[in-house]
Amino acid sequence: MIGIIGGSGVYEITSKADNVEKRIVNTDYGDVEVSILDIFEKTVAFIPRHASGHSIPPHKINFRANIDALKNVGVTQIIATNSVGSMNLEMPPGSFVIPDDFLDFSENRDKTFYENKVVHIDVTEPYCPTLKEILNESGDVILGGTYVCTQGPRFETPAEIKMFKMLGGDLVGMTGLPEVTLAREREICYNSICIVSNYASGISESELTIDEVFEMVEARQNDLLELIYNFIKNAQDKDCGCHHALDGAEV
Ligand SMILES: [Zn+2]
Repeated sequence: MIGIIGGSGVYEITSKADNVEKRIVNTDYGDVEVSILDIFEKTVAFIPRHASGHSIPPHKINFRANIDALKNVGVTQIIATNSVGSMNLEMPPGSFVIPDDFLDFSENRDKTFYENKVVHIDVTEPYCPTLKEILNESGDVILGGTYVCTQGPRFETPAEIKMFKMLGGDLVGMTGLPEVTLAREREICYNSICIVSNYASGISESELTIDEVFEMVEARQNDLLELIYNFIKNAQDKDCGCHHALDGAEV
């Protein structure tokens, strides 16, 4: 089953569904409302990351509950959407970027399911290569880029962006981590569509506003939905290294 964790701009995904069933899924970390959709004769589980009405700020998202809720309904592949600022002039506002690495600057988040057990998962390829290929066939995307996750909720300073760029960052956002690594700990394929909403602070001349972010997401919403629909059509349930992430990871 395919899982989708949608940020802004994806709430309309249900419009193409033949059937929508809302389920409350219990997890060890809390209950999560999951929409089970029938789209193109496939079953898709959808979670709006910020909950309904975009009410939960990035640093308060219950990432573990969201991932476990998808695991519990039988999801084996997750596509997430994240809106990001760009630090790379080759990834201009409006682009869809499929990242291939990350730098994690988020703080005080629950980053693992293994609090009391020694497990070291491999993240040489943190974003699933199988899903990357399917996304590449499904629309106009830029492949590769390093995602920098900040704690938020404020935007970054020009000096921070300068530092992230020096460290090799291309995109900056607040919601990508620890979602990607929690999915790997649960042996679920995971990849992200990063929607570039603006240039990051100091890359662009103007001040950043959240309106700018939502405006770009809205302008690209139809293309984003088409990319996701094509992904759903093209996706096949095949075996992947992500499904064996715990082999050799436990001490
Ligand atoms: Zn995979």
